[in-house]
Amino acid sequence: MQTIGHLINGELVTDGERFQEIVNPSTNELEAQVSLADRETVEKAVAAAADAYPAWRSVPPIKRMRIMFRLKDLLEEHADKICALLTREHGKVLNDAMGELQRGIENVEYVCALPELLKGEHSRDVGPAIDSWSEFQPLGVCAGITPFNFPAMVPLWMWPMAVACGNTFVLKPSERDPSAALYIAQLGLEAGIPPGVLNVVNGDKEAVDTLLTDRRVQAISFVGSTPVAEYIYTTGTASGKRVQAFGGAKNHALVMPDADLDNAASALMGAAYGSCGERCMAISVVVAVGDATADALVEKLKAQIAGLKVGDGRDNTNDMGPLVTRPHLEKVTGYIAKGVEEGAELVIDGRGLKVKGFESGNYLGACLFDKVKPGMVIHSEEIFGPVLCIMRADTMQEAMQIIDDHEYGNGTCIFTRDGEAARYFADNIKIGMVGINVPLPVPVAYHSFGGWKHSLFGDLHAYGPDSVRFYTKRKTITQRWPASDLREGAQFSFPSNR
Ligand code: NAD
Repeated sequence: MQTIGHLINGELVTDGERFQEIVNPSTNELEAQVSLADRETVEKAVAAAADAYPAWRSVPPIKRMRIMFRLKDLLEEHADKICALLTREHGKVLNDAMGELQRGIENVEYVCALPELLKGEHSRDVGPAIDSWSEFQPLGVCAGITPFNFPAMVPLWMWPMAVACGNTFVLKPSERDPSAALYIAQLGLEAGIPPGVLNVVNGDKEAVDTLLTDRRVQAISFVGSTPVAEYIYTTGTASGKRVQAFGGAKNHALVMPDADLDNAASALMGAAYGSCGERCMAISVVVAVGDATADALVEKLKAQIAGLKVGDGRDNTNDMGPLVTRPHLEKVTGYIAKGVEEGAELVIDGRGLKVKGFESGNYLGACLFDKVKPGMVIHSEEIFGPVLCIMRADTMQEAMQIIDDHEYGNGTCIFTRDGEAARYFADNIKIGMVGINVPLPVPVAYHSFGGWKHSLFGDLHAYGPDSVRFYTKRKTITQRWPASDLREGAQFSFPSNR
């Protein structure tokens, strides 16, 4: 059986005594086992990154950038292999895997402007013969801890920018689907990243805790569920690290009575059920303003759900693949049972779906709840499956209050034909990423990604301009080369330009 190991100092190694099985979610057949790094293995990776740092930080940014150009080419050249790994371990449909990879490549493309992005700020003559400038220096060893749902894209949010800025890096991918991240890191080395600059350790809590407390690690980027994000943030910052920790979500779409409901229903189908709802920007709740809007929307969604095709991810005619693991399937079906028990109306029940030829897979058909109320567990908690909840509000203000009162604040969107309402919504809603007739407002690579409230612990968002700031430290230098006629005696009052 294949053993997936670690990439440390340019070498693939499989140290350690603990392993976890990697099963194909479509069949539940064993594909491989992943080595779970112990403290010693992680410390070796951190040591490799620390040793590689002094030389790497001195490489001119334009040379680091050229490696990113080569990486982009390699990612495109090997896209089919990467996507096959994504589908084998995550389950998502190949076309969707290709979309994920493309969004990851766009992050690499943004990094290809590195010398421009790293330019500092300069002021001449801030005082007599005094110039001042700010530059952005790398931090040292940075680490990234990533979730199962975007095994290629989320690591690409992190290490290309971190490494291009002159840092060295240790990545800890999700142990549920680690192969794509490991392979992409190998492509990074093939593109020219020197050994030790980029390392990958596979593992679980033990590996993460080692990264969180190792004094050589300067910064941590985390993406995953909210309880773990909060733990990473509090533990990492307590040990003096810069931390950005992206957590879970419950993204609401607000549908106004004047919306183009056919368009809204189609948009919601993809946003709720694409990738089986296992997206942190998936729409999992619709708040319809007015019963007539809700009734019409439910009818349109029912019709479209009837045509949804669920099956093996290798078949691109499918709309949805399986859920990632059997325990995750059980967790999602547990939420559906809970919703019924709480009195929500289960309009479409996708449980018990059997896919011909893949009867042992983690399949769940699309589920639709109506008349969901605030306070129900299916509204307060993140389900992370193909379950869409419809809520009803009498007014736009009431609908916005439901969204604002929620613990999470990742994404939201409004469907309307009314520009004034849309502008009011975008201006006032307490959510980090907002769509107007756009159901999944995932920012493009040259903006930055991040939620509010319990969807992000930390300040700077992921990728784009914020990531340049996250992976660098500002240093401000003030310089004077006094000419002989400018010599001054000792000054004891605070210098100013009075
Ligand atoms: P998860 O929190 O279970 O795991 C994420 C990472 O943390 C993994 O690498 C895992 O090994 C590690 N981990 C898990 N438990 C840990 C613990 N107790 N201590 C230390 N490390 C631990 O998340 P997941 O199930 O892999 O991913 C799905 C979650 O990620 C969802 O909640 C989803 O909303 C969220 N997510 C958020 C974003 C975002 O940008 N906000 C993006 C993608 C996914």
